[in-house]
Amino acid sequence: MPVTTLRQAVLWAQSRLNENARFDAAQLACHAYGLNMTQLRLRGELPVDTQQLDSLVARRAAGEPLQYLLGQWEFYGLPFAVGPGVLIPRPETELLVDFALRCLEGQERPCVWDLCAGSGCVGLSVARRRPDARVFLLELSDKATPYLQKNAANCPNARVVQGDVFDKPAAAEPIQLILSNPPYVPSGEIDGLSAEVRHEPREALDGGPDGLRFYQALRENWFPLLAAGGAMAMECGEGQSQRLARQYFQGFAAQTLRDHNGIERVVVVTRHQAPPNRLPQ
Ligand code: GLN
Repeated sequence: MPVTTLRQAVLWAQSRLNENARFDAAQLACHAYGLNMTQLRLRGELPVDTQQLDSLVARRAAGEPLQYLLGQWEFYGLPFAVGPGVLIPRPETELLVDFALRCLEGQERPCVWDLCAGSGCVGLSVARRRPDARVFLLELSDKATPYLQKNAANCPNARVVQGDVFDKPAAAEPIQLILSNPPYVPSGEIDGLSAEVRHEPREALDGGPDGLRFYQALRENWFPLLAAGGAMAMECGEGQSQRLARQYFQGFAAQTLRDHNGIERVVVVTRHQAPPNRLPQ
């Protein structure tokens, strides 16, 4: 079996990778040898077998996302199980959680739904920080749902529901907050995405011809379930927010939130207290 020192193994891994080579090599080595970053730095002379690292590096060099190889990724300070079949949590999506926590301040035992929940990173981040909230996470995909269930396993105030946002929902009580990061990439743009993103499930990315297919279902099926004063916050792609706010949610109380890159990334629609909001015909 090929044996070398840990330091040599990491350097070799680095030389085989391109972008973020140092970071990726270190992360993969930590994963292969069961070490944290500090241990990796301190134990350079440790003799190691390179076989497992070798196969991880080959897969990474061929474009598999680092997050899938690690099997876990951090979002809002919490670890989430991820792998082929589920969308990888993105840093810009933390904006939805920031908004949710602000929005729920002062509300007791709120009912929250996370639609197209994927790994559950949005809804579960809210559930962990608001143990009094009742958080429902809706996901359709058979491949994504096991990750969601695993991530929700030790979260007593979260419930996983398998279902489709395009079906009439079975929510039994008024909802204070609806959160969603639906698929929003226009179908024609998917093939042009990076090799990493193309390893992610198409059904988590493909938002139909204009990328906006899911927002219609959110408006028609879910918005009417909001309690008076409730809000629906939806992530969207670059350049989609104005069309969503002006066209899809015309006549609703809509606002947009910018991410760290200054991109309008979240559209928030609020249900008026009175008179009740009407869906445009
Ligand atoms: N932000 C993702 C990307 O473009 C898309 C996620 C989504 O469709 N919800 O890589």
